[in-house]
Amino acid sequence: MDRIKNYIDGAFCAAEKEGWIENVQPATGKVYSELPDSGAEDIDKAVSAAKRAFGEWSGLKPEERFRHLMNVADGIRSRMEEFVCAESKDNGKPVRLARRVDIPRAIQNFEFYASAALHFDSESHYTEGLGINYTLRRPLGVVGCISPWNLPLYLFTWKIAPALATGNTVVAKPSEITPMTAYLLSEVLEEVNFPKGVLNIVHGRGAEAGDAISHHPDIAAISFTGGTETGKRIISVAGPQFKKLSLELGGKNPNVIFADCDFDEMLRTTMLSSFDNQGQICLCGSRILVEASIYEKFKKAFVEKASKMKVGDPSDENTKTGAVVSKQHMEKILSYIALAREEGGRILCGGDRVKLDGELSDGYYIQPTIIEGIDQNCRTNREEIFGPVVTIDTFENEAEAIAKANATDYGLSATVWTQNLTRAHRVAGRLEAGIVWVNCWLARDLRTPFGGVKNSGMGREGGFEAMRFFTEPKNVCIRYDA
Ligand code: NAD
Repeated sequence: MDRIKNYIDGAFCAAEKEGWIENVQPATGKVYSELPDSGAEDIDKAVSAAKRAFGEWSGLKPEERFRHLMNVADGIRSRMEEFVCAESKDNGKPVRLARRVDIPRAIQNFEFYASAALHFDSESHYTEGLGINYTLRRPLGVVGCISPWNLPLYLFTWKIAPALATGNTVVAKPSEITPMTAYLLSEVLEEVNFPKGVLNIVHGRGAEAGDAISHHPDIAAISFTGGTETGKRIISVAGPQFKKLSLELGGKNPNVIFADCDFDEMLRTTMLSSFDNQGQICLCGSRILVEASIYEKFKKAFVEKASKMKVGDPSDENTKTGAVVSKQHMEKILSYIALAREEGGRILCGGDRVKLDGELSDGYYIQPTIIEGIDQNCRTNREEIFGPVVTIDTFENEAEAIAKANATDYGLSATVWTQNLTRAHRVAGRLEAGIVWVNCWLARDLRTPFGGVKNSGMGREGGFEAMRFFTEPKNVCIRYDA
């Protein structure tokens, strides 16, 4: 049985109390490795190492930090297939998705923020009659990065890379449900001689290792991605300590489809935005709102396509829909499908667990599921399901579309489909979301601000937003006689 280790101060180690957590392969439902069950003492050890490393790391020239981060990117690239297979095995996602999206993006995160270290600058303001103000930006010190299981290495590195690029040292905790690629990353750190103590990777449960990061008095900031309830818990612990917080939380994203859209392109993309990664992307559209005049045409075409989707072995190169991440998560998704039935929903396709053959027979597979007839105020439409389950509903006009789209406590992203440019701008401006895609989905330019409004979080990641989050601005005002 593989045993994953923590990586603290440049050394691989077990948890101080030597406990282990079982790691299950979602495709088979079998335990295949173990990870350290770390607690407050391990986090403390990692924070001490990060504090010792801070002086030297923050004192490096940006060009030197650039080189170190590029080395990590190259190190991941040189073991690409190993990372791809590990991500698929750990998470249940199709190997082709990990190869197309997850691992290339993790590499890109390091490269993008390596170069951001070279380009990041600060503001200065000339003040007539006074002199000049300029802003110094300094790293915060030791920061905590906590990430979820749905895009394991992709989101882990999305936080770590800007934190390091700006000169902070890091204590990072991946999800205990998908720890494997974070462990491979620690092997890469070792291989490329990454400076000791600068990036410490500690595995463990949220309620213990994660909570210890929120509590630790020497951690200056936390960048967190995960569920809204966990985000609330982190605020309640870290807020009173005035830690800087960036919280990327849950979503219940609407797709607003107008009759004048490019129907074929919309249908193709709506399949992806509904079911890619088994619907386990925070940006998936789970409430599909369709203009009444094309509702029946859309419903027929969408249900036909979804019914043909084959759920299969994630390690098979041809599989497009794999397993959901865990038994507990599968049961949660199935309970929401049962709730939808109780709330009067009609299941148009899917709705059940899929049993595959042989060693996959205990795996966690769910059919892509489409539900209609649910009011936007029902729990099915208000609570995050985070699986291959969408609802479809109609609207008569733009005002109703916007009202239904905004009828949620969340506000992460939204998708709008229309060929009318004026309407596209108008609707995009009125949707309560941090990200609006018009005639596309998941198109990402890493320079853009990324994050949600309402219960989907606070703060923004991406581009210089993350560089600003991980630095403290100090204004220096200099008076001089003109
Ligand atoms: P989660 O909140 O259960 O766990 C996320 C991370 O937080 C894990 O590493 C976990 O161990 C840790 N954690 C749990 N309890 C903690 C605590 N008390 N203190 C500190 N850390 C703790 O979320 P999940 O189930 O892993 O991920 C799914 C959720 O993530 C969904 O709600 C999804 O929408 C959200 N998500 C959001 C984004 C975004 O960018 N907004 C991206 C991906 C996923």
